[in-house]
Amino acid sequence: MPLELVTIPCLTDNYAYLIHDSESGQTAVVDVPEVGPILAALSAHQWRLSDILITHHHDDHIQGVDALREATGAMVYGAAADAHRLPKLDLALDESSSFSIGREFARVIDVPGHTLGHIAFHFPTSKLAFTADSLMAGGCGRLFEGSARQMHQSLQKLAALPPDTLICSGHEYTASNLRFAATLEPGNPKLISRIAEVAEKRAQGRPTVPVTLGVELATNPYLRAHLPALKAAVGLPDADDVTVFTEIRARKDKF
Ligand code: ZN
Ligand code: FE
Repeated sequence: MPLELVTIPCLTDNYAYLIHDSESGQTAVVDVPEVGPILAALSAHQWRLSDILITHHHDDHIQGVDALREATGAMVYGAAADAHRLPKLDLALDESSSFSIGREFARVIDVPGHTLGHIAFHFPTSKLAFTADSLMAGGCGRLFEGSARQMHQSLQKLAALPPDTLICSGHEYTASNLRFAATLEPGNPKLISRIAEVAEKRAQGRPTVPVTLGVELATNPYLRAHLPALKAAVGLPDADDVTVFTEIRARKDKF
């Protein structure tokens, strides 16, 4: 049985996620923007929280961690590299770390760019990847600490996961991300149909995450900087992938 996944809207546009192993009862949350909606989701499912997984140090991802730990006694996991600016960690992780939720093995992927210590969590058996503000639905996080080259490399690692992996990202930014993508690839049919699907979901008040990596590969411009069509769209037909990626990211910042 794969892990059960619950998407929890928090604050104005953040997401936390619960993952639950039905055999062991073990339940983890990925990021804690606020405590209330997470406790409500746990009680609705009658699950007991065992683990808190942190992707990066920004307040909108960690500000509820201490209160949630207090309320549940859960263990807290986060990047060793950022231990000095994260809530107290019970397990400090790096890319060589692995752990399990119930019977399911999890892998840590370093994804610097948005912040330097940003990590993603990959559960290969359930085909889930928690990418927060690295790879986002239709986009990627802003470069607050790392370079465009680092973010490009981070996204390349995520792009190499199996295409049926569900990408669970940290914010509901999909509609504006895709609006920007359409300025680069106005004729991409998969992008056009995704924009319509996202508009419909938002009109119904539903999250546009998670989404498969396959959809991202077909529509997310930051995963497409190697393609001649994208290079031409930013006026850099002969440039290398990182230069094109850097230009795409810079254009989004002004979009
Ligand atoms: Zn962030
Ligand atoms: Fe964020």
